[in-house]
Amino acid sequence: MEAEDDIEFSDDLRTQELQSVKTIYPGCRVDYQALSGAIEVPLKIELGIEIKLVEPDTPSQGSDHPVLKKPSETLSQSPDQVLTKQTVHNLPPITLTFCLPENYPYDEAPAFTIQSSVLSKSITTGLTEDLLQMWNDYKDQILFNMIDFLMERAQSELLVTTVDFTDPEQYYNIIDYNKTVLQKEFDMQTFTCEICQEDYKGSVCLEFECRHAFCNQCLYDYFSSVITTGEVDKVHCPNFECTKKFVETRKEYSNLETWMERNFPVEEIINVLLTPSISLALLTKILKSHGTPEEVESGIKRYQEMFKKSQYEFIGNLLPNRLVDCPRTGCSEVIFRKDLNDKLVVCPRCAYAFCNDCQNSWHARFVICKKLADKGNNYLGVPVDDIEYYLLLEKDSYERKALRSKYGRARMKRAIDEFQMDQLFNKMLHEDKSVVACPNCEIGIEKTDGCNKMKCSQCLTNFCFLCGEIIGPNYDHFSLPDSTCYKKLFVGMAGAEEDHLNPIGVLDDD
Ligand SMILES: [Zn+2]
Ligand SMILES: [Zn+2]
Ligand SMILES: [Zn+2]
Ligand SMILES: [Zn+2]
Ligand SMILES: [Zn+2]
Ligand SMILES: [Zn+2]
Repeated sequence: MEAEDDIEFSDDLRTQELQSVKTIYPGCRVDYQALSGAIEVPLKIELGIEIKLVEPDTPSQGSDHPVLKKPSETLSQSPDQVLTKQTVHNLPPITLTFCLPENYPYDEAPAFTIQSSVLSKSITTGLTEDLLQMWNDYKDQILFNMIDFLMERAQSELLVTTVDFTDPEQYYNIIDYNKTVLQKEFDMQTFTCEICQEDYKGSVCLEFECRHAFCNQCLYDYFSSVITTGEVDKVHCPNFECTKKFVETRKEYSNLETWMERNFPVEEIINVLLTPSISLALLTKILKSHGTPEEVESGIKRYQEMFKKSQYEFIGNLLPNRLVDCPRTGCSEVIFRKDLNDKLVVCPRCAYAFCNDCQNSWHARFVICKKLADKGNNYLGVPVDDIEYYLLLEKDSYERKALRSKYGRARMKRAIDEFQMDQLFNKMLHEDKSVVACPNCEIGIEKTDGCNKMKCSQCLTNFCFLCGEIIGPNYDHFSLPDSTCYKKLFVGMAGAEEDHLNPIGVLDDD
């Protein structure tokens, strides 16, 4: 107490300056005895800054550490050296440590250092020189100006730089840091829940990407109810406009024409069709807010099953080829065929195993199959062989014209559309390995960015997407040469290329 009072009435200019700094920046650490202090200057970039994880053997990298460089310092990078990138709005703060010497402020400059885990040496050196120059220009109390200057300059410095990392750990630390800051800011804000219309602190609310916010209780009630009743189409932001948009998009994409006209790349189709409109991590978070671990687990599992089934129905409507009725009398199950090349179909309801082409109980491949007229590998009755042949032919060739007149122009076009769309679906269904089970609690986890290090949203276990092994919180599993997954942090899923068009066996036109 006494010490505080002493400080209160101190007529030492240095103490007075420290006091006012402390008042303005309460986060500043001040030692009145040593006449020193430290302040963390936040690096908040309103416009965002792109940070990249690049191949370690990129020639532009020294053995230096995290590197934030001016564009002139960066050798031109070919895009494939960039493993992953993300825009962040917060970087770990710069620390300014200072000490006010005997003859400060008029005759001696403050002693200080600038530390940063993201700025390169050349940048911090430049900033240090600028700050020193400031005191030389004023020769007076300078702490405020220094802090101000750092806050501004750090910003503008960052706007014209790129941040490259070679160490995944550092890269993901920044990503996590950014997330933590955003979450803290969110938690402090007040939101009006769109369902119950009450005001809540962000810490008990959740905001969707569309910026609609709800309280956790309302979200929990809403999602656990629609999952229980099986209303899979309602599992998205409950806002009225978002619901409307969801229904419209869904309707639009139920048309094959939409797909053919827009000429979507496969990734796009995967996004639209196979990615739930609310991520499993987010859904887990919502269910976890008011549910027991068992309720969370069963809720998520049920949702995953519902979702998959609804997607199959969706694709099946688009491409009737994918659907087959169970031929067993009394069982009317509509079965989705994931692999069109596989003639064997097993009914998930009655377990009847049958041949798609002849609809008889499953027979070995060498038995002659009495293919039904409309079954087998065709689209609208046009055999796949003819479609593939057609697509290989010259645009104005005689053979094309001949095929068109054989099947009819409109039918041929539609058959080709369906065939091509189906090729995409094939690829997509094979690439649909984005959800894996956590090796610890077995809940489904989505692979979100390209990296193979996964973290379970429920039990927080870290594991490897490729080999399923439980790994530590660091990146050793991918960076140590004796590890099974050495250098495989970004290796894509195998098997994506090898599938493809060729039907097993022969398409006999008997
Ligand atoms: Zn509410
Ligand atoms: Zn919304
Ligand atoms: Zn059946
Ligand atoms: Zn058969
Ligand atoms: Zn888990
Ligand atoms: Zn592994």
